[in-house]
Amino acid sequence: MRIAIISDVHANLEAFKSVLTDIETVGVDKIFCLGDTIGYGPNPEASVTLLRDRAIPSVIGNHEKAVLDFRFLRGFNPVARESLQKTIKMLSEDTLRFLGGLDTSIVAHDCRFVHGFPLDSPMTYLFQVSEAKLRRTFVKMPERCCFVGHTHLLECVEWNGDIAVTSEMTRRTYRLNPDRAYIINVGSVGQPRDGDNNAKYSIFDTDENSLEVRFVPYDIAAVAEKIIARGLPKSHALRLW
Ligand code: ZN
Repeated sequence: MRIAIISDVHANLEAFKSVLTDIETVGVDKIFCLGDTIGYGPNPEASVTLLRDRAIPSVIGNHEKAVLDFRFLRGFNPVARESLQKTIKMLSEDTLRFLGGLDTSIVAHDCRFVHGFPLDSPMTYLFQVSEAKLRRTFVKMPERCCFVGHTHLLECVEWNGDIAVTSEMTRRTYRLNPDRAYIINVGSVGQPRDGDNNAKYSIFDTDENSLEVRFVPYDIAAVAEKIIARGLPKSHALRLW
C-alpha cells in the first residue's frame, strides 16, 4: 500500500493543489494529513474545504486548536497570533465545527499520524524532545512508524530498540529497516522552513518499506501576493521564498 502523508498546508491553496496533482500523477492508495491546514496563509476556508472534498483524514494541529480555543493563542508568537486572529474571521461556522471534530491522533495500517509528537501531542516539537523521552516514546508506541509535522523540517528518527538516531531528510527515496521503528517528520506543504521553497510531502510504501520524500513546485508569487492583499503579516509572504 502506498500512503501519502501531507502536513502543515497552512492555508496555502496553491501549494496544496500542486501537491494533490503530484499525488494523482504518481498514484497512492491513501492520503493522511497531519494538521495545521490553516494559519499563516491566505486561503484557510478553501484549504479545509479541499481537504474535506477529497475526504482526506486529518488530525488536529496547534493552529486548529488556537482558532477553536483562544487559550491556545497565548502559546504563539505575536505575528502568528495576529495571523490566527485574522484566520478566525475567514472561517465559516461549518468549517470551525469540522475542525472541532478532528482527533489528536489517527492509527491506521500500523502507522500513527499526529501533528507534533507521539503518542498524540499537537503541541510538542520533535526538536524539543530529549533522547530519554524519545526512548520512552518508542518503547510505548505500538505502531512501527509515526508520522509528524509541526516543525516544517524533514527529519527521520530511527529506533533500533536501544538507541534513537535522528537524521535530516531530503529529496530522495529512503529504504526503511523492517526491524526498526521510526518517527518521521514529513515537512510542510504550505510553509517550508528547510531552506528549499518547494512544497514537501512523503509517500510511505508499506510493501517496499520505502519512504519517498517529494518536492513540488507551485506558484509562490501568487500566494505571497494574496497574503499581503489580505492584510496578513508580510513576514509570512516573505518566508515562502
Ligand atoms: Zn505548522
